[in-house]
Amino acid sequence: MSKVGEKTLSVYGNVVRQFNKAADLIDFDPEIRKILAKTQNEVIVNFPAIMDDGHIEIFTGYRVQHNNGLGPYKGGLRFHPAVDIDEVRALATWMTWKSAIVNIPFGGAKGGIQVDPSKYSQSELQRITRRFTFALGCNIGPEFDIPAPDVNTNSQIMAWILDTYLSTQPPHTRQANVHVVTGKPVESGGSLGRDKATGQGVVFTLAEWAKDRKFDLKGATYFVQGFGNVGSWTSILLKPYGAKLVAVEDICGAYENPHGIDPDELNAYFKQNRTFDGFRNLKKIDHKQFLGTKADIFVPAALENQITAETAQLFNVKVIAEGANGPTDPDGDEILQQKKIDLIPDILCNAGGVIVSYFEWLQNKRSEFWDLEEVDSKLRKLIVGGYDRVRAAAKKHKTDWRTAAYVVALSRLEKVYKERGIFP
Ligand code: GLU
Repeated sequence: MSKVGEKTLSVYGNVVRQFNKAADLIDFDPEIRKILAKTQNEVIVNFPAIMDDGHIEIFTGYRVQHNNGLGPYKGGLRFHPAVDIDEVRALATWMTWKSAIVNIPFGGAKGGIQVDPSKYSQSELQRITRRFTFALGCNIGPEFDIPAPDVNTNSQIMAWILDTYLSTQPPHTRQANVHVVTGKPVESGGSLGRDKATGQGVVFTLAEWAKDRKFDLKGATYFVQGFGNVGSWTSILLKPYGAKLVAVEDICGAYENPHGIDPDELNAYFKQNRTFDGFRNLKKIDHKQFLGTKADIFVPAALENQITAETAQLFNVKVIAEGANGPTDPDGDEILQQKKIDLIPDILCNAGGVIVSYFEWLQNKRSEFWDLEEVDSKLRKLIVGGYDRVRAAAKKHKTDWRTAAYVVALSRLEKVYKERGIFP
C-alpha cells in the first residue's frame, strides 16, 4: 500500500487496472488471463537478527514469484519501511512484463524487508541480510529465482546474499551457484556496467524517443525525482548529450537551479552528505513547485504513486521517462494522456537493470567476463528492441504506450501458454 495525501492506494490494484485495460484491448485469452492475474508463490518470513547491543529484533521479509512461464523468477530486493505484500506483488508482476518486453528468458519476482536501513549499522544490516537469505532458503536459487538490487539495496548486500547462499550449499556445488544473485560487486562475479544499467537504459530509451520526435537532447531541460542509483546514473549519463538538469528531489527535499546543476558534482556531494542542502546555487522549493517545473523531460526515479489524479495536472513537460517502478497510477495516466505528455513506461524504460542482470547471469554460467563496450552495446540492442515493439503495438492498437507495453508482454506470454498447455 502507498499513502498519497489522506488516501491509501493499493499498488497491486494499479497493476490489475493496467493489466485489464490491455487484456480487454487485445481480447486476451480468458483462461490465460486467470493465470496471469494471480501471483504463483508468495513467501513471507519472520526472522530474528542480533543488534549491535545484543538485543534481538524480528523482521518481516517477502519474496513473491509472479510467473515463470518465460524463465526463472527474477527481480530485486527492496529494503524500505513501506514494503508490504501488496507492493511486492505489484513489483513482482511488473518484472514478468518487463522481461517479456525486452525478450530475456526470465519470469517475474520481487522481495524485500520491511525495514528502514538508515536506522541500522553496517554490521546489523549484514546480519539482517544474511538471516533473511537463510530464511528464504531454497525459495531462491540460480536456476529458480534470482534476486538483485532494488531500492536501498546495493552490490554489498548482494555479496552478503551470495556468501550466505553459497555457505549453506553442499561444498562441491558452491562454485556452480554464483549466479544465484545479480548486481554483485565486479570482483565477486558481477558484471561491468550493472551498476549504471538502469540509468543507461533510461537514457537509451530517451534517446530513441528524441529520435522519433526529432527532438534535440542537446540543451534539453530535465528534472529528476529520487537521486539513488537510477536517478543519479540517469543524470550523469544524460550529461554527454548536452541535456541540462534543472531540479532534483529526494527525501531531503526538492531543489532547483534553472541555470543547470552538474550531475557529477551533485552526485559526489550527495553521496557524502546525504542531502542537497548546501550544494552551490540550489534553491529549495516545495514538492508541488518541483512537480510543476517547466522542462522538457521528467524522470521519476523514486517510489510508486507519485503521479496521480491530483499531481498529474501539475506537469509541464514533453515526456516522462519512468525510471522508477509504478510512479504513475491509472488516474494519473489518463490525465497525462489528456495533456498529451509522452510516456516511456516503467516496464520498458527501466528494464536496463534486469537486462544487464541477465548478462551477469550468463557470464557466471559460462565463466566469461565481458568488457563494458560489449555490455553496453548488447543492452542498447535489447532495450531498443523493446522500444520498437512497444511503439509498433501503440500504433497498431491506437493506444497509449503503457497499454502497448502490456500488449507486447501479454502477447508473448499468451503464445507460450498456448504452445505448452496446462499440466496435467
Ligand atoms: N530491481 C530492478 C528492477 O526493478 C532490477 C531487477 C533485476 O536486475 O533482477 O528492474
